[in-house]
Amino acid sequence: MYSKRSKITDIVLIVLFVVITILLSVSGYFHFNVKRKIFEDSYFVNQLGLIRGDIQRYSKFKIVGIQKHQISSNIELILNDIYFLISQEKNYSKEFYNDFKQKLDKIYYEFEKLQKTYDKNKIIELSEKLWFQTNKLVDTALNYHKYKFSNAIKTFNLVIYSTVVFLILIIFFVYKKVKKGLEIETITDKLTGLYNRLYFNEIYNYFIKKYSRDKKTFSLLIVDIDNFKKINDTYGHATGDEILKKTGSIIKEVIRKTDFAFRYGGEEFVVIFPETKIDEAYSVAERILKTLPQKIKINLEPVTISGGIGEYNGENPKEFFEKVDEGLYIAKRTGKNKIIKI
Ligand code: GH3
Ligand code: MG
Ligand code: MG
Repeated sequence: MYSKRSKITDIVLIVLFVVITILLSVSGYFHFNVKRKIFEDSYFVNQLGLIRGDIQRYSKFKIVGIQKHQISSNIELILNDIYFLISQEKNYSKEFYNDFKQKLDKIYYEFEKLQKTYDKNKIIELSEKLWFQTNKLVDTALNYHKYKFSNAIKTFNLVIYSTVVFLILIIFFVYKKVKKGLEIETITDKLTGLYNRLYFNEIYNYFIKKYSRDKKTFSLLIVDIDNFKKINDTYGHATGDEILKKTGSIIKEVIRKTDFAFRYGGEEFVVIFPETKIDEAYSVAERILKTLPQKIKINLEPVTISGGIGEYNGENPKEFFEKVDEGLYIAKRTGKNKIIKI
């Protein structure tokens, strides 16, 4: 049976949309940031590589007696740039920063020594020392970059996987919602919004089976608008349609939430009252009978209905329906605007 749980689906869908929007924004921001960081890190490693190479170039010239001031000032510039870069990097831990800075200071110090010395052996010794020191720094920077990005990639993958999972969930819930919408459409009468005849057959059989299973009875009401053809002929089809709509909503208003109202045919309506004895169902039917002429009038002429009502107690389903329908025809033959109990 169809309940009105589509509100829950709507709420779930809204939550899913919010989550996926957040996830997509996070992955967008992440992507942008990672790209920027990769560029920054490559620049940093490249600067360190330049120092490593330039110190060797400087030493080479120095060994043959040429003092290349351009190279040494360049090395100093890059070293200062690196000092600046590491002071700006927020991701470094305190230990890493201190260790890196100490190593840089050492290079600075050894390079100053290299600039001051003119002894060939000392130059070779210092340049070798500086080679290892600068090389180690390049390695450290590379390893740190790898470490940082392996973590970033793990987080990024998590964001991507969650996005995929949430997308699948959204597709599932949209599918459920569309399916439910189609199901509701196939069981609903477009004009009145009540259930249609197709769904009546399903629900009628359901309660018949329920009775044979656990002897839970139900009552059945069949009503038909009186002289509807005349209304149509006099006031037109549109007015007729309006009356049908109003009749549908009055029936819906009067019955309980657990009852089922159907538009069975043109101006014929059926109500199933689950687990309801005839007297109780009859009092509801009477309320429909009385409310309708009060609320629907054309040219001060009240619109009335006639009907038959019965309680199911295990009869043949077809015969039971025909018996209640017979009640409706007795009502019509004996003056209309009444409901006959069978
Ligand atoms: P009775 O009191 O014996 O029920 O007479 P009646 O005129 O109501 O019954 P009859 O079966 O002769 O006419 C029913 C009319 O209902 C005929 C048909 O044109 C009209 N009708 C059926 N479906 C619709 C609809 O969807 N809209 C409108 N406006 N009229 C409809
Ligand atoms: Mg009629
Ligand atoms: Mg009819």
